[in-house]
Amino acid sequence: MEEVGTGLLDRLDALQRVAASAPGGPLLIVAGPGTGKTRTLTHRIAYLCAELNVYPEHCLAITFTRRAAEELRVRLDGLLGPVAEDVTVATFHSLGLAILRERAAAAGLQDGFGIADDTQRAEARAEAGDDEAAYTKLLRANNLVDLDELVTLPVALLRDEPELVEQYRARWRWIFVDEYQDVDATQYELLRLLSPPDGNLCAIGDPDQAIYSFRGADVAYFLRFAQDFTDARLVRLTRNYRSAAPIVAAAVQAIAPSTLVQGRRLDPARLDPEAPLVGRYAADTTSDEADFVRRTVDELVGGVSHRSLDSGKIDGRSSTISFSDIAVLYRTDAQSATIVEALSRAGIPVQKRSHNRLRDRPGVAAIARELRHASGLGGALAARVRLAGQVLADRFAAPTLDAPVATSPEDVWSAVELLMPLAQRCGDDLPLFLGQIATGAEVDALDPRAEAVTLLTLHAAKGLEFPVVFLVGCEDGLLPLRLPGRPPTDDDLAEERRLFFVGLTRAQDRLYVTHAARRTRFGTERETRPTPFLDAIDAGLFERLGDAATRRPKDRQLRLL
Ligand code: ATP
Ligand code: MG
Repeated sequence: MEEVGTGLLDRLDALQRVAASAPGGPLLIVAGPGTGKTRTLTHRIAYLCAELNVYPEHCLAITFTRRAAEELRVRLDGLLGPVAEDVTVATFHSLGLAILRERAAAAGLQDGFGIADDTQRAEARAEAGDDEAAYTKLLRANNLVDLDELVTLPVALLRDEPELVEQYRARWRWIFVDEYQDVDATQYELLRLLSPPDGNLCAIGDPDQAIYSFRGADVAYFLRFAQDFTDARLVRLTRNYRSAAPIVAAAVQAIAPSTLVQGRRLDPARLDPEAPLVGRYAADTTSDEADFVRRTVDELVGGVSHRSLDSGKIDGRSSTISFSDIAVLYRTDAQSATIVEALSRAGIPVQKRSHNRLRDRPGVAAIARELRHASGLGGALAARVRLAGQVLADRFAAPTLDAPVATSPEDVWSAVELLMPLAQRCGDDLPLFLGQIATGAEVDALDPRAEAVTLLTLHAAKGLEFPVVFLVGCEDGLLPLRLPGRPPTDDDLAEERRLFFVGLTRAQDRLYVTHAARRTRFGTERETRPTPFLDAIDAGLFERLGDAATRRPKDRQLRLL
């Protein structure tokens, strides 16, 4: 742990320090990727608690995914020590759940209510048809709420009960929201209820990284912040500490055609003249693309390219590259199969984080159902999860008619393993445990220390960083994504460009972009073109790497021999 108080702000630059030490009141921090927004947020909380005697229990930090929330928690622990535990760190869903659990009766729910899983939702939908009021009734009859209701119900409750609003405002006097660009209307309303117009609400984000409008997020809430919250202070951060200079330059050019930030600035703090350019590889086919990734990973970890990478290091990061330093990002989950196969075949360990939700895993759903039904069971959840796993696995061995087999033992045991840390954290609180499963936006099996190459979708990569990043499938049709029969609108295209921008800016030292000339999608192989997004970037920022085109004659020679 860092010594509390002393030098807390020394690790920030001048503008970050202004933001971290700003007095109370509404505060908006708008800044590009890698400028230290998340770092500034954690330091601000630590500074307020350590220096200004703000009580940690008066602080509420909200983000969008559980993984991001855990990351915040770890960073706060490091800065504040044990008192960091008193800071409430939540996702919008887990915050809503906490409020509803405290006020179940007032919200028209029974104690111990659960969150409907996909099967339960589908059943209720089927029975209720189009009747939205009937759907809710069916869920309530089973003491369930819908996932979306975790935010809408607290909003409705607080709207009706001004005294309750006052109670929550007294509890969480300091509110911090990371990745603010992705708030939707209901989440914004919850923020307005929890924070008075002149409250200590600190919102942090980058409009150019807004990638969730398909889920109702709206960057307009950035613009409304200054209207709805009185005398909001605005701080912009402009220095990118994450990425080598050519990566920052490429990213800035890539977003320029549709930037939402007036006078956007992003200056590289890392100015190593030796920093490698952005590697660009034009593959023939998708398996050629996967093989390029495989080859390059082998080279990087094997040491061939270490020299060029060492020079770009800052903050004394280790100078060798390991598998865990490497991420492969893609637009659609379907792209991952070829990559996983190529890497695994070469003995390269991979870990994949898709945008799948925990509750969508068959094993997890089966265990959650078993726990809900085996109401007689009590005691520590870790043991009960293991027991439920055993029951399900036994049932697989000896199926009976009244207890059909829903899943394979393999699914069950991998789910038990996945759920164990969560079960341990939840003690013996079953509703909390089930609630966490239902609200976990993503599978959080990703272990940052695992010695493996990380594979993830661009959406799941938000907020993360890796020394080496491959952005694969940079083709028109994939990025921007085009689906059959649904031509993208201008807004869709702008959002796809932002997604491309998010992808480029995850890289610290080395970035590779690849595209294949032919790709099979929806069962048909088609010729493709590189994404027009690449055209916005100066050719001089790329290093063309052993393209298929230049390799082919050699291959032919080999075959002739
Ligand atoms: P994103 O928009 O992608 O979420 P961000 O603005 O939240 O990015 P951070 O993740 O907080 O950026 O910081 C990016 C990287 O830069 C981190 O590795 C962080 O430790 C480092 N960094 C930030 N500020 C500084 C600084 N003042 N000195 C040294 N390193 C810094
Ligand atoms: Mg961040």
